[in-house]
Amino acid sequence: MKTYQMFINGEWVNAVSGETFDDLNPYTGEVYARAQKGDEKDADRAMTAAYAARKPWSGTPSIERALVISKAGHILEESRQEFAEVLTGEGGSTFGKAMFEISQTIDLLATAAADSKRILGETFHTDPSKLSMSLRSPRGTIVAISPWNFPLILAMYKVAYGLATGNTVVFKPASNTPVIGLKIGELFERAGLLAGALNVITGPGSVLGNALIDDDRCSYVTLTGETETGRHVAQRAAAKLKGYTLELGGKNPLIILADADIDYAVDAAAFGVCMHQGQICMSVGRVIVEQPIVDEFAAKLAKKTAALPSGDPSNPETVVGPLINDAAVKKVDAHVKDAVSKGAELLTGGTYEGRVYEATVLKGITKDMLVYQEETFGPVAPIIAVQDEKEALEVANDTSYGLSAGVITQNLEKAIYLAEGIEAGMVHVGNSSIDAEASVPFGGFKDSGQGREGGFYSIEALTQVKWVTIEKARHHFPF
Ligand code: NAD
Repeated sequence: MKTYQMFINGEWVNAVSGETFDDLNPYTGEVYARAQKGDEKDADRAMTAAYAARKPWSGTPSIERALVISKAGHILEESRQEFAEVLTGEGGSTFGKAMFEISQTIDLLATAAADSKRILGETFHTDPSKLSMSLRSPRGTIVAISPWNFPLILAMYKVAYGLATGNTVVFKPASNTPVIGLKIGELFERAGLLAGALNVITGPGSVLGNALIDDDRCSYVTLTGETETGRHVAQRAAAKLKGYTLELGGKNPLIILADADIDYAVDAAAFGVCMHQGQICMSVGRVIVEQPIVDEFAAKLAKKTAALPSGDPSNPETVVGPLINDAAVKKVDAHVKDAVSKGAELLTGGTYEGRVYEATVLKGITKDMLVYQEETFGPVAPIIAVQDEKEALEVANDTSYGLSAGVITQNLEKAIYLAEGIEAGMVHVGNSSIDAEASVPFGGFKDSGQGREGGFYSIEALTQVKWVTIEKARHHFPF
């Protein structure tokens, strides 16, 4: 079993304390790897390296930045198998999910590389006596903190766009998936990135997070994680008047109207609920179905999900793999038991073996149940029956979250009504709530976050705007 080092200033180093922590395989429960347990001293070392590299990196021609990012994408393409093995070994990703995540990340790297040359300013037709324009410059040194569920692509949004916009980066991966974070460091090392431009440190989120955010040399924080973590990071950053982007939790509705093709709706729901065991911020968290079709839909969804192969994620046939850890199993089971104790009908699932929770379908969901309001983060479909699209919209919006939503109907007017009315950062008509692309605005309303990532939106977040004027002739001063 390997003990991984951290990546600081282009070198692989141990934590100053010499301490390490265990990185567990979610399926077997065995130690997959060991990683360095960094603390404030390591945060300081990483920040020193990133801060020192910020001028050389921001002064690097954009084409050279683009070439490094593009090369990282090519190396990832050649290393698919190696990355997939890590995503499965420490993250519990099924083969299909791992390959999907790697493909999406290659796309993201290509998009970010191209965007290195698209950091645009504007000109303003203001006073004709001068030229007036806006210029974008990097924020400086940014702190990137990522979660464990899509640990490669979600980190890469921050790392690739951070580097593309000329910032240097201190990146802290989640403690459930430290190796994939360190592999990102290795990818950029192999791509020839300037030493110090990207630093990857591992260890407890609160210790490293606080140290990095409090550091005066950090100019911006970008986090993907739970809403509570986001609240903490926002307060910490605001105390120092630093900007932030927060991509947080969701309780995403999938609305299915009575005119829908039921089999298609079942496929969309099964995918939205079960992809990566429901551990995606965009996972379908509530299935809102019009009354006339609810019984048929629920029965078909239960039949389909009960037949999905579950178990060992390294078996390419597996669709439902393990949850990330025992705490996650406990939480999912508590949500299911709470619903059943309050009168929900359990159509399938509700059991687990090890950390593999069977896909679960619950009917007769009411507002007082945990599965109605809280992010379950497991393969659980709580079905809520509604009378019409108006009630569907009310239920969809009856949550503190607002990340993503899916709408399945063949009625264009109702689709538009719902797409406009749903309080979420992303709405997909004819699809489940799971969709993402590198160049689109990705992010949420309400408790699901602040700001957007992807394409221009990442550039906007990770750069600052300066208004510059040039007088065409001597300026006239009144005194
Ligand atoms: P988490 O909030 O527990 O951890 C996220 C990261 O924050 C980790 O790297 C962690 O170490 C770090 N962290 C923890 N405490 C911190 C602190 N006090 N200061 C700074 N950093 C700290 O989340 P998770 O369990 O890794 O991920 C699952 C959550 O992330 C779910 O709620 C999910 O919905 C959300 N998520 C959101 C998106 C999105 O794009 N909106 C995408 C994926 C996951």
